[in-house]
Amino acid sequence: MGRKIVIIGGVAAGASAAVKARRTDEEAEIVLLERGPHVSFANCGLPYFISGVIGDREQLLVIPTERLAGRYMLDVRLRHEVIRIDRTAKTVEVRQSEDGRVYRETYDRLIIAAGSRPLLPELPGGKLAGVFTLSTVEDAVAIREYIQNNEVHFGAIIGGGYIGLECAEALVTLGLRVALLERLDQVMPTLSREMTAPIMAQLAGNGVDVHLSAEAEALLGREHLKGLRLRGGEEVPADLLIIAAGVAPELELARESGLQVDLGIVVDEWMRTSDPEIYAAGDIVLSRNLAGGNPMRVPLAGPANKQGRVAGCNAAGGDLRFAGVVGASVVKVFDLTVGRVGMHEEDARRAGYDPLVSYTHSSHHATYYPGAEVMAIKLIAERLGGKLLGAEIVGGAGVDKRLDVLATAIYAGLCVKDLEQLDLAYAPPYASAKDPVVIAGMVAANIQRGELKTVTPHELIDLTAAGVRMQIVDVRTPREYKSGHLPDAVNIPLDDLRGRAGELDTEQTAILYCGIGYRSYHGTKILAARGFKDVRNLSGGMSTWQWVGKVVAGEGQGMKVV
Ligand code: FAD
Repeated sequence: MGRKIVIIGGVAAGASAAVKARRTDEEAEIVLLERGPHVSFANCGLPYFISGVIGDREQLLVIPTERLAGRYMLDVRLRHEVIRIDRTAKTVEVRQSEDGRVYRETYDRLIIAAGSRPLLPELPGGKLAGVFTLSTVEDAVAIREYIQNNEVHFGAIIGGGYIGLECAEALVTLGLRVALLERLDQVMPTLSREMTAPIMAQLAGNGVDVHLSAEAEALLGREHLKGLRLRGGEEVPADLLIIAAGVAPELELARESGLQVDLGIVVDEWMRTSDPEIYAAGDIVLSRNLAGGNPMRVPLAGPANKQGRVAGCNAAGGDLRFAGVVGASVVKVFDLTVGRVGMHEEDARRAGYDPLVSYTHSSHHATYYPGAEVMAIKLIAERLGGKLLGAEIVGGAGVDKRLDVLATAIYAGLCVKDLEQLDLAYAPPYASAKDPVVIAGMVAANIQRGELKTVTPHELIDLTAAGVRMQIVDVRTPREYKSGHLPDAVNIPLDDLRGRAGELDTEQTAILYCGIGYRSYHGTKILAARGFKDVRNLSGGMSTWQWVGKVVAGEGQGMKVV
């Protein structure tokens, strides 16, 4: 036998590590210790199993235990929990859950891939039947069976992050009336608040009753859950509750054994911890942040699989490196696709950048080809050098593809001027000759080069609050203007602007806007050529403004303020 590699945890990172270790060293003894009843299962598929989109629980088991053990010659031990690491003796203490027996296992190299567990708020009534978290196949099966075997009409979700949103959709698909409670004042806290407006509309359109800035105070019912009482006294009916309030990394073993731990286990590029014989991977580690900024913990499957592979290879004597993360994530919320990557605007500010922000709205393929869907892209870039720092996208079809292009751009350290040059594939059913990413790059690059002065909706609100005198010009058609416009805006349609520029004051700041910022961009050029001192385009136009600010209701339209 060659070197002995022991792996703690057998899902995304652990299973990847085991398989790669075997491919690296055919002689190694590889022991995979997993606390639960399965290895290598698809956590990410669990909400879709609840909804029935994935019909069979076997489909969630990415590779059956017997095949994993046989094909890769692994000693897989299910329901074996590591309760202690002794780094001096190079042993782990293991408890078998079936009979409580505790034994020691030696290792030459150890890989910690213990992942994370759901966070549970302290709630009276938390033990009632009908209260669940969702992190294992058993959780998903239990939720499905509970719905099948009980009178369940009202579902509630605690947590408006991506798992909460996926669960809300799953319960709506099953015909439940669903309430979603979020402690913060927005769903999807990893997105900018304005970019969540379409998500709120999508949830409302599908009957989800969203409570923001809401905290459950107690769970109501005798044996079975019947409802939730919120702080403030409101009661929400619920026969079933899924708590999706975030996850916490399983750091206790690492901490107790004296490994260097911060918000996650500290590892180098080889996924080696502060002990050279111990590697770590997945939800529990801190990763280098390739978007800029501090190392971060990204509890997502992509990094976990890649880090596991690197840890497994290196523990078995190979030499692979993990470069870092850009934090790309995507989620389906009914008919919407929502994604983000890199830094949030506020993170960028905190990290000392002067961020340039642009909003664009463009179609996922040629508008003349049937079925074009609009997506909104928010880019965050370094104002001085134009380096792309982050992006958020909300839309329908094609969002995932643009998100991946932007994730690649951030990984490669590209600037906004590179985005406008990208040579992307085009045919009418797939894209436009100017792809949404290219358009976003052009707008951001125009801003960065000083060719286009913009104001974001937030900046406009701040300027208004500060009492800055401005003339706000709506360059859309009179019909569009009447359907709803910014407060105090005058309507001068783009095609009349040359003739009517004299109605405006060249000395006073002029803010131009249209539907998405395209016509008004041209308008800014017309006014600038006529000697206007300060002309700015409202970034993202009326579309983004509606997600942020106030709209004066138009005639009979009753435009809603989000
Ligand atoms: P885990 O998958 O958590 O595996 C760790 C394993 O270690 C567990 O099985 C645990 O039982 C075991 N373990 C822990 N401690 C011990 C111990 N002391 N001894 C023995 N065994 C131990 N990510 C995405 O990128 N996209 C998605 O769409 C997505 N959807 C998700 C949906 C849900 C409902 C959930 C729960 C997660 C989702 N994720 C998604 C996150 C993704 O699943 C995780 O980031 C990924 O599984 C992390 O892999 P890991 O190996 O680090 O940890």
